[in-house]
Amino acid sequence: MRIKMWIAALLGLVCLTAALAEDGGATIIGEDAPRQAMVESVVEQLERLPLTGVKIGLDPGHQARGNNEKETVAPNSSEKKAKVTSGTSGVASGVPEYVLNLEIAFRLRDALESQGAEVFMTRETHDVDISNQERAKMMNALGVDLVLRIHCDGSENRGANGIGLYCSRSNAIAEESYRAAEAILPRVCEATGAKPHATVQNDNYTGQNWSEVPCVMVECGFLSNPDEDRLLNDEDYQWKLATGLTNGIIDYIAARDGA
Ligand SMILES: [Zn+2]
Repeated sequence: MRIKMWIAALLGLVCLTAALAEDGGATIIGEDAPRQAMVESVVEQLERLPLTGVKIGLDPGHQARGNNEKETVAPNSSEKKAKVTSGTSGVASGVPEYVLNLEIAFRLRDALESQGAEVFMTRETHDVDISNQERAKMMNALGVDLVLRIHCDGSENRGANGIGLYCSRSNAIAEESYRAAEAILPRVCEATGAKPHATVQNDNYTGQNWSEVPCVMVECGFLSNPDEDRLLNDEDYQWKLATGLTNGIIDYIAARDGA
């Protein structure tokens, strides 16, 4: 985890600073008192980050090759859907959705970790074969506070644009997931300038239906819209998405914890 390396580096710097102060003949009251005080101050500041102690799951949607074998769409359903598809692709860029989803998820992971969160990802490469049901079960087993499923949208209407959030409607996590979506949408639209396309509750998605922890699918924009396709491929815009999603998660967690 990069956040742990960062903490270790900070503590190392503190100890070095303290050692130099001692070498320079600084007045030391009690042998390790200044060093201890500085270490405590750094730890205290890290503990004050808004997402310290919060576990976030990220599921970068799709993978290089879809898997058309079937799996049940929900725990108590006999309806089956493909295990995982390969997604859409950019109408202007030609870039596959699964590539963009992972790029955005990596930036989001960095943004969340910078705010103290512990982040778990269902995949970190494209060459995997993990069904939507399996992805949900991975996050259930980890007991994360919230899962974001990162996707990009497609439509036959080239003008369609904006950010859409999707949650389950009927399972145990439906209400809490919707609360998270309502906190996230204004913040991600504020950071990106994108239009809020929709906040939808339905039972259409295997990944949300199998989730036992709050779960929101984020459709970051429309790859069928040439302008939005270009934006989604822009590194600065991806950072805006990551920042806005992180701000929304901070708001959600603060409201959940009554802060
Ligand atoms: Zn998708």
